[in-house]
Amino acid sequence: MSNADTERDPRRQLPAVSRLLDSEAGRALIAQHGRTRTVAAIQHALDDARAALGAGDAGAPVAAPGEGALLAQAEAALEAEARRALQAVINATGVVIHTNLGRVPLSEAAQEAVRMAAHGYTNLEYRLDAGERGGRGQYVEAMLCALTGAEAALVVNNAASAVLLALTALAEGGDVVISRGQLIEIGGGFRVPEVMAQSGARLVEVGTTNRTRLSDYEAAITEATRLVFAAHHSNFRIIGFYEEPHVGELAALAHAHGLPMLHDVGSGALLDTAAYGLAHEPTPVESVAAGADLVTFSGDKLLGGPQAGCIVGRADLVALLRRHALARAVRIDKYCMAGLGATLRHYIDGEAEAEVPVWRMMARPLAALKATARRWARALAARGVAASVKPGLSKVGGGSLPEETLPTFLVILDCESPDRLMGRLRRETPPVVARVEDDHVVLDPRTVLDGQEDALLHAVARAVEAL
Ligand SMILES: *Cc1c(COP(=O)(O)O)cnc(C)c1O
Repeated sequence: MSNADTERDPRRQLPAVSRLLDSEAGRALIAQHGRTRTVAAIQHALDDARAALGAGDAGAPVAAPGEGALLAQAEAALEAEARRALQAVINATGVVIHTNLGRVPLSEAAQEAVRMAAHGYTNLEYRLDAGERGGRGQYVEAMLCALTGAEAALVVNNAASAVLLALTALAEGGDVVISRGQLIEIGGGFRVPEVMAQSGARLVEVGTTNRTRLSDYEAAITEATRLVFAAHHSNFRIIGFYEEPHVGELAALAHAHGLPMLHDVGSGALLDTAAYGLAHEPTPVESVAAGADLVTFSGDKLLGGPQAGCIVGRADLVALLRRHALARAVRIDKYCMAGLGATLRHYIDGEAEAEVPVWRMMARPLAALKATARRWARALAARGVAASVKPGLSKVGGGSLPEETLPTFLVILDCESPDRLMGRLRRETPPVVARVEDDHVVLDPRTVLDGQEDALLHAVARAVEAL
């Protein structure tokens, strides 16, 4: 390259990193995102510009971008990164167990317990009475037994690992009999046939998608059978010409052949959902009473606690699972153990409806929801945002009570483009996740927590204004 060429090279017109950092906008970015990340973002913007200018093809830009454009690119990258970080969001969807938003919030006591476990040392595997090593989770397991009527309990990482552990420990190398109507996918890649394959058990499907009778199971039981398995179809509803045996009948059949029966009941409802005007969700208590030898359920669905998988049932089988090598790989962490203990305590003390957020939200009286929706609409109107109130429906969601709804009152936001408003709401601090219904953005007060109201109304007003 001749000297003249070098001077004409637009890459030489790009500003130095230090110059961008020292600009007013650069200093503002440092104040907000810190120096290290701002330097990296500016360098990235400069690298991009250099690459585009040096590409040499017909479409390459001829002039270097200005300082403003480079800083704007750095800012956009820094903001996109900040939005990816795990952060609190306001759930205005009305979906109580919202899988994508972390399923359920914890009670005050459970939050405190998680904090305690994070803050310092605990007696996680230490017996304070004897001053010696103790089993992880004994306190929690005793409560699970008391609450479900089971002989023994074990807690693991989540319900998916509870099922995997149970299948592996009880049936590896043997046959597991299950109805074709229960070869379900729970979401997040949990598919019963695949979990079965992973466990090393052979899947023996019986019956049809919509009808499976006890005689179908009976005909499939052979010398190789190790387990009779039932999985609750917790995220879809079957209506019409449908039949499957009751858990109690399956357990009796299994026992008649000297086999154990495993029931994956899914959501771990320790209270009766029918009391809230919902369909009855099968409970672990019922499964244990019906004779299931092992029952598995999730800690963070209707139980309302942290991520966990609960296994309750026969003491000899639970002991087998506890000793299995896989148990160590799927063990529960101490924060979840702490949160689960505090959550179960609420049920033991008979205060779950008042303390556990998932039940509190489901129990919210319609009149209170209406009053809240009206208050929001008035507050928004005062800020110049057109909003009205109409009756609507909240969902339980999250792999329990499919299609079941609870009456609520919705705040309807008046705007041209619901998608754009949803996008603006997601970019607020804190981000707001709402829902679109009949081409309108709506807010459901049911899932907005105490203390979030002001932040929500501010965010909505700002988002509408920014449209
Ligand atoms: C939700 C669910 C699972 C998985 O529970 P996680 O705790 O999310 O692992 C397994 N089985 C059934 C029937 C479920 O509903």
